[in-house]
Amino acid sequence: MAHNNNLKFDSICVHGGIGDYEFGPVVPPIYQTSTFRFKDSAHGAALFKGEVDGYIYTRMKNPTIEAMENAVAQLEGGFKGLGCASGMAAVNTVLTTLLKSGDHIVCSRSVYGPTRTLVETVLSKFGVESTFVNSENFNEIESAFKPNTTVLYLETPGNPTLSITDIETAVKFAHDKNALVVIDNTFMSPALQQPFKFGVDVILHSMTKFLNGHADVVGGVVVVRDQEMYLKMRKVLNQLGGVIDPFNSFLVHRGLKTLSLRMKKHTENSLPVAELLEKHPKVKWVRYPGLKSHPQYELGLKQHKAFGGMISFELNGGYKAGEILMNSVKFCQLAVSLGGVETLIQHPASMTHLTMGKEAREEAGITDGLVRLSVGIEDVTDIIADLEQALQKITD
Ligand SMILES: *Cc1c(COP(=O)(O)O)cnc(C)c1O
Repeated sequence: MAHNNNLKFDSICVHGGIGDYEFGPVVPPIYQTSTFRFKDSAHGAALFKGEVDGYIYTRMKNPTIEAMENAVAQLEGGFKGLGCASGMAAVNTVLTTLLKSGDHIVCSRSVYGPTRTLVETVLSKFGVESTFVNSENFNEIESAFKPNTTVLYLETPGNPTLSITDIETAVKFAHDKNALVVIDNTFMSPALQQPFKFGVDVILHSMTKFLNGHADVVGGVVVVRDQEMYLKMRKVLNQLGGVIDPFNSFLVHRGLKTLSLRMKKHTENSLPVAELLEKHPKVKWVRYPGLKSHPQYELGLKQHKAFGGMISFELNGGYKAGEILMNSVKFCQLAVSLGGVETLIQHPASMTHLTMGKEAREEAGITDGLVRLSVGIEDVTDIIADLEQALQKITD
């Protein structure tokens, strides 16, 4: 199964990455071991020289992790995956592999907060320059490029603004300038957006979100297109040590089986929720790629197979209204993170983006009344009823 590349997406979700194991289990066993016994000294030497296939030490390679990595790689249509301890470990692996002192990176302004912090406060110590742009405006990408720009890093749809970057146009331009393009595909998952089709070089995910989908694992993955890039990334990941463990890999692999089903239900639930919010008197505006009012609705249609489970909206009542809404929801869980089966709600100005400061938030489009909703796979009438009763509590 593992090497059949002709399967359709829904079948890869179920069968992807599964190899042949002793006793013929239909799911990969959890090889909960740190190390692997050699047959004899010649076998150990052959493994270290790479002359034979096999396993040495779990930080380097483990069958349970490898199975999950192969599954994600197949779903993205890539060559291989690299399982990481978290989404941030994946970001770190990619950026430290691709950048060196003297390089410049152009990055979407609406990237995941810690990604920006990593670039601005850690990579800068090693001589990496950066420019953050509203990547949905192609002109901003174009004018941010310098002769030493080697990486264009995109996140689309953006967090939490859900602005959409035209991947194909950005890739063409970056490749023309000999820069590599990296995309954080966490918000859509390969079920809804397949960046390799637009020529992207490296894809990464926080598997904590939609890939695992059950809010019970922290993990990340990098997917690459060829052997050369794979070996480069693997070398860095293995030395930095931010690998995922076998049990979490097993859980993610299990979650992948329902990825397609879940993404369909997230999308099916999100549209009526977005429509309700759009009509609601307490709500100023709603951003959801599936709404015709989304400024890049047409681009979304071209880039996404469906619209996913992330919605953001602005309350008329600003910060105070945001606090009231957070304190009034009962069914929607007041929690950060996203992409799980349960509906989660959060208020970026008082939570995820609090420490950014008001000015930086506004520059990134994160206004005081902005609310981010990760719509789950429950019965949508329960989600809507809860939002309606909670919005009612906002009095001004
Ligand atoms: C959560 C998230 C990350 C970081 O992932 P962790 O697993 O929390 O380290 C990176 N990018 C995006 C878009 C995310 O939502």
